[in-house]
Amino acid sequence: MNEVVGRFAPSPTGPLHFGSLVAALASWADARARGGRWLVRMEDVDEPRCVAGADREILRTLERFGLRWDGEVMYQSARGAAYREALERLKELGAAYACSCSRKEAGEVYAGTCRAGAREAGKPVAWRVRVEDVEVGFDDRVCGRFTQNLARDVGDFVVLRADGLFAYQLAVVVDDAAQGVTDVVRGADLLDSTPRQIRLQRLLGYPEPRYLHVPVVTNAAGEKLSKQTLAPALAEGREEEDLRAALRFLGQPEAPRGVELLRWAVEKWRVSDGL
Ligand SMILES: [Zn+2]
Repeated sequence: MNEVVGRFAPSPTGPLHFGSLVAALASWADARARGGRWLVRMEDVDEPRCVAGADREILRTLERFGLRWDGEVMYQSARGAAYREALERLKELGAAYACSCSRKEAGEVYAGTCRAGAREAGKPVAWRVRVEDVEVGFDDRVCGRFTQNLARDVGDFVVLRADGLFAYQLAVVVDDAAQGVTDVVRGADLLDSTPRQIRLQRLLGYPEPRYLHVPVVTNAAGEKLSKQTLAPALAEGREEEDLRAALRFLGQPEAPRGVELLRWAVEKWRVSDGL
């Protein structure tokens, strides 16, 4: 079996909250339990949303929790050349085309209006990837089989936005391949992005990683914890309680008092239905 490579890929838009700790801990424990490497990547491809210094704060928080990563931290903001190369490859394959539709014109499921050529010359264009009218599926290690018909459910999707920023879907696929990631462990809010990413992996000839989507942590109102829903930052001095709560959320066995929690987490790590 090849070496396991996991990763945690936060967006540096603010401090880590309990939901990000759950995602970080799950990917860390899952990689370490199999003697694998664990990488950290800053998903700062959407630069306008990023906050200066948030990356360093995130890394300090991971250190505070004892979650040590391997190698250099990758920054998407430094990866433009790799994304451009991937887009060129998609163009050569005839799999990408320019689109001049506004978000409103494009609608929820893009109908492929610009497949035969962008309609409005001179307007900034986005680049979209063609999808096919077939089921694209994968076996999630927790959620089981998940399939989408990309043509019906999503439509041709954007890989380079009209404002010149590369889309998350392309960046994540290029980076996972470049970093040799074998196991993607992340929140279930990204479950329905996965078939688009598999479409790109297949077009670009990348290996398909295994996927494990962990349940999303919500607040009392049922909203996903995030900066937008004003999730509180992880407070200092509460590391033990927070780690215990995260392990409990992930359905892991309760650790006895006094045990070294991270070592326990790795030794006992188990993945079952619904975790
Ligand atoms: Zn269009």
